[in-house]
Amino acid sequence: MSSGYTTSSNVAQLRESATIAVSQRARALKAEGRQVIDLGAGEPDFDTPEFIRRAAQRALDEGATRYTAVEGILPLRQAIADITNETNACEPITPGEVVVTTGSKQALFNACFALFGADDEVLVPTPAWTSYYEMVDLARANPIPVMGSVSRGFKVTADDLEHHATDRTRGVMLNSPCNPTGSVYTASELSELVRQAAERRWWVISDEIYRRIAYDGPATGVLSVAKHRDRIVTIDGMAKSFAMTGWRIGWAIASAPVARTLTALQSHTTSNATTVAQHGALEGLRQREMAEAAIAAMVNEYRRRRDAALDILQGPGAPGVVPPDGAFYLFIDVRDTSPDADDAGSVFARRLLEEKGVAVVPGAAFQAPGWIRLSYAAALAEVVEGVRRIVALRKEMLRPDQGDA
Ligand code: GLU
Repeated sequence: MSSGYTTSSNVAQLRESATIAVSQRARALKAEGRQVIDLGAGEPDFDTPEFIRRAAQRALDEGATRYTAVEGILPLRQAIADITNETNACEPITPGEVVVTTGSKQALFNACFALFGADDEVLVPTPAWTSYYEMVDLARANPIPVMGSVSRGFKVTADDLEHHATDRTRGVMLNSPCNPTGSVYTASELSELVRQAAERRWWVISDEIYRRIAYDGPATGVLSVAKHRDRIVTIDGMAKSFAMTGWRIGWAIASAPVARTLTALQSHTTSNATTVAQHGALEGLRQREMAEAAIAAMVNEYRRRRDAALDILQGPGAPGVVPPDGAFYLFIDVRDTSPDADDAGSVFARRLLEEKGVAVVPGAAFQAPGWIRLSYAAALAEVVEGVRRIVALRKEMLRPDQGDA
């Protein structure tokens, strides 16, 4: 029976976030009393560093309870500009070019909405975070997946982008370290893409939320390899490197006219990001020594988990995996577990949860349906046990003609 109402064409194609759906499902199963190892959520399992929590408590006591400027408090925007300018090769960034948002997700959405429109095409190096495709769609533009080669950890080259470019191409979404593969673009790989985008007059939206979670030092950001930044929007935030997912503080850095547009857009939707959270973020960016120590401790722990998982995944009978240099994900190839590779990741993820009690995200969420994504932002023992169960399930599912298990 019809529900009696219809939603608009704006959301006709909209699907809920697959990454969030997996976390919710894992939570619901736990609430029912099931033992679930949740390797689905891309959420640090650490607490926000204490010095940041204390600063927010102080700010609250001192009255940080009212609206701020839509674009965020000036000291926070100044701190973001200062930190970015330490590695920025372009004209220095000023606070007027920084817009603080309700998580980097809002910065990404606003940038897509402001820069792309009906029938524009946006190149999305694939696999990519599930929400890029939806955000571009919501802007009524067309996301064009560009699959990099598996042997390069799915990283794309300028040639790959060129093959998918048309006269309607308006922009490209970059993300290094990449969610879901953990691949990190080198400075020269990134500068090749940035140079191409500048020549073709494409917008670059560069999501650098995992920049500090990288195992050979901070990953290269686009502003450190670009010559000009007038068509570049850089996105970052506190969630991943500072374990501040629930605080919802992100930002966009863009040329002043674009920053003003992003601010105007936000003035009609969410206004400022939560005031007290902005003060917490400010402390995180100001207290450099404490921040660096906290980030280093978390990155070291992620490295330990990654290495332990890779030890198993690179052993006999294990599925293929992209060896990650950053973020906290493992992207695992399960195409050989199903006659229909286009369904393999979803079938595998479903059986893994139901039969082995391990939650992961099916690769279809990232437009790579034969794969699964595992998040190792979970205790080491859980990661190791989860990976063992993945290897065991794959052995059970391998078709008889595949004898390597
Ligand atoms: N970005 C994280 C993930 O990919 C958190 C969930 C989300 O916002 O998609 O799992």
